[in-house]
Amino acid sequence: EKIISVKDLSYNVENTEILKFINFDIYKNDFVGIIGPNGAGKSTLIKILVGEIKNYIGSVNINGKIGYVPQKDEFDRTFPIRAFEVALMGMYNEVGVFKRYKKKHYEKVRNIMKMLDIEYLYNRNVGKLSGGEYQRLSLARALVSDPDILILDEPEAGVDSNAQKIIYSILEDLNKKGMTIILVSHDISMVLKKVNTVMCLNKTLHCHKNSIDMTSDDL
Ligand code: ADP
Ligand code: ADP
Repeated sequence: EKIISVKDLSYNVENTEILKFINFDIYKNDFVGIIGPNGAGKSTLIKILVGEIKNYIGSVNINGKIGYVPQKDEFDRTFPIRAFEVALMGMYNEVGVFKRYKKKHYEKVRNIMKMLDIEYLYNRNVGKLSGGEYQRLSLARALVSDPDILILDEPEAGVDSNAQKIIYSILEDLNKKGMTIILVSHDISMVLKKVNTVMCLNKTLHCHKNSIDMTSDDL
């Protein structure tokens, strides 16, 4: 069952081609790793999938709700806000501007933070979190919206190898439970170990879909 279908996707900024004729399908319950050199267009592709970039050429069909864990959080960490409040923001669309969060929303945040082993951060000011803690909080915020598809832009960026392992094992778990996962990563060995589909966005801006038996020599 196709959950994402991209056909002849191109994206230009002024006269520069950022993405050129990208084609791929992602199926329900796939665990996809997107790799490629700096500047290949990985983040741009993700921004198109999550709807942050709309003026692309071609067709992008998405058959489910997306949860997005951005690479660097846009959030101002000096702003005094607690961890659970950040996670609650994941339900903003459900709750809407004039409605208020209810008990069930707080409970859901707590349960998901528990699942991610960060319940102890619930009341903590986000300015005090480590990179790995913040990454998991960002994941919690994405999960509270009950996404069918989880998209992560370099989940290992700025976190130590232990936190990295924790994040990947959580992703494997979610994938086993049926979630479709797409992640951009620079850690090729980790990607090849964990995912079932690798897409390589290379300098010539073409996208290949390969099976897991691709070795890093092919990259
Ligand atoms: P990656 O995530 O693979 O490193 P990006 O998607 O961030 O690549 O960027 C791909 C290319 O597009 C880069 O050369 C980048 O400089 C360029 N680019 C991305 N966004 C813009 C923009 N808004 N204006 C101009 N160039 C951009
Ligand atoms: P299970 O559904 O087997 O209990 P988990 O609780 O580990 O598994 O979570 C799996 C999925 O359920 C995740 O996608 C998460 O978004 C969602 N989820 C987890 N806790 C809650 C909750 N309290 N309310 C609603 N959805 C939840």
